Amino acid sequence: MKIQNYINGEFINPLNDQWLDNYNPANGQVYGSIPNSTKADVELAYNSAKNAFNQWSNTTLEERSRILIKISELLESNLEKLAKAESKDNGKPVALAKSVDIPRAASNFRFFANAITQFASESHDSTGQNAINYTLRQPIGIVGCISPWNLPLYLFTWKIAPALAAGNCVIAKPSEVTPVTAFLLGDICNEAGLPKGVMNIIHGLGTSAGQAIVEHPDIKAISFTGGTSTGAHIARTAAPMFKKLSLELGGKNPNIIFGDCDYENMLDTTVRSSFANQGQICLCGSRILVESSIYEQFKADFVAKVKNLKVGDPSDPNTNLGALVSKPHLEKVLGYIDKAKDENATILSGGNQLSIPNFEGGYYMEPTVIEVSSNDCNINQEEIFGPVVSIMPFDSEEQALSLANSTKYGLSATLWTNNLKRTLRMSKRLEAGIVWVNTWMMRDLRTPFGGMKDSGVGREGGFEALRFFTEPKNICLKY
Ligand code: NDP
Repeated sequence: MKIQNYINGEFINPLNDQWLDNYNPANGQVYGSIPNSTKADVELAYNSAKNAFNQWSNTTLEERSRILIKISELLESNLEKLAKAESKDNGKPVALAKSVDIPRAASNFRFFANAITQFASESHDSTGQNAINYTLRQPIGIVGCISPWNLPLYLFTWKIAPALAAGNCVIAKPSEVTPVTAFLLGDICNEAGLPKGVMNIIHGLGTSAGQAIVEHPDIKAISFTGGTSTGAHIARTAAPMFKKLSLELGGKNPNIIFGDCDYENMLDTTVRSSFANQGQICLCGSRILVESSIYEQFKADFVAKVKNLKVGDPSDPNTNLGALVSKPHLEKVLGYIDKAKDENATILSGGNQLSIPNFEGGYYMEPTVIEVSSNDCNINQEEIFGPVVSIMPFDSEEQALSLANSTKYGLSATLWTNNLKRTLRMSKRLEAGIVWVNTWMMRDLRTPFGGMKDSGVGREGGFEALRFFTEPKNICLKY
């Protein structure tokens, strides 16, 4: 499969004619090539976006919304094809791509197509001064959207949809590891009637193509989802140009379980929040903290359930965990198992690479549960981003809070309890952008999404995203 850049509504080769291999994580084989784009390709995309901006930013909201809804419908009608492509590119089970990734990509477009029609600006009658102030929310212009490999189309469209809805033109870069569904989106945009140049997709390495987007002096806003160290690098690059930044970064999320919770629901959800998408979701609860009174029971029940999870062929509907996204990533995750052993943690289940018959070259790993005695160890402090969770007991609410908050990250936290007062006390004090109580990863797209501390800056979702992608202008009218 040959992937090309999507610029000015057309599919074109990179100007330097340099290409990168694209791998299928399920069997480790190369099955495609992608552009190794550079600054020159970004410049071409920028010029096409610039030419399109006047028309798109002046298109009526009704028309913009109509086109975005059409994109959403086309994503839905191509569900099967897109889900298979996402799985082949990323290693995730097809069933997961079909039930989560692709439907959510469609919802992203539908949601922001509607949200833009409800996005009101403020006006103030400045009493006593004979003046009216009103705020215009104007599109920024050309914006950059850079997304990671774990939820490829889901997160790509989570940025693009609000950017387009707000009237911007976009230059977007998916992860070089998972470019295929972003490539397929180009055709869908054309079919939906998105005017040429409004959206441009550049493929290639983060350090060259991504860096060129961030360095471009006239791309005035960057919405980025990825690792914390990449986010810090982007912030340093963008700061002298005073760019608007939205940074959605890593997490090391606590999953706090009290003895008074609804046990069976908690147990099933905890298996999911630990290992969904091979544990490669920024929101996965990778640190499980359990009240001492139920710790031994939980440990036995959880490990038994984890041992029953099926790892293997992503196209098999019974598969729970597919392949990890790439060989380097698998090696990185396995490296954390070695660190855990060095720190005398106890591997309760898993810990090894797996060879799957007929998929011998694939990047598979056993879902892994590690018992730790301290929150200070590497596996409780560093983001592993794979099928690895740690468990440890706590004795009191105060200790649970202290353990939960003792990392540099602050993305999400999950709390399992039926005690209302405790819920209210703890939700307030947990250092996380999102707190789930008795559930996990339930999303309402109107709510703000993002992290505290090293998990990011700014919020996406709902009107927060439309605020990010617009420039507020105050106009003061004296009468
Ligand atoms: P990376 O930070 O490595 O990459 C993210 C994106 O940035 C990719 O498209 C990458 O390109 C690109 N990139 C890399 N370097 C640069 C650069 N110098 N300038 C511009 N762009 C660059 O993250 P991963 O792809 O490995 O994704 C995993 C990370 O994403 C985890 O830390 C995870 O927690 C985080 N994440 C956060 C979420 C959130 O909402 N908070 C949600 C999902 C993931 P390329 O891949 O081609 O190198």
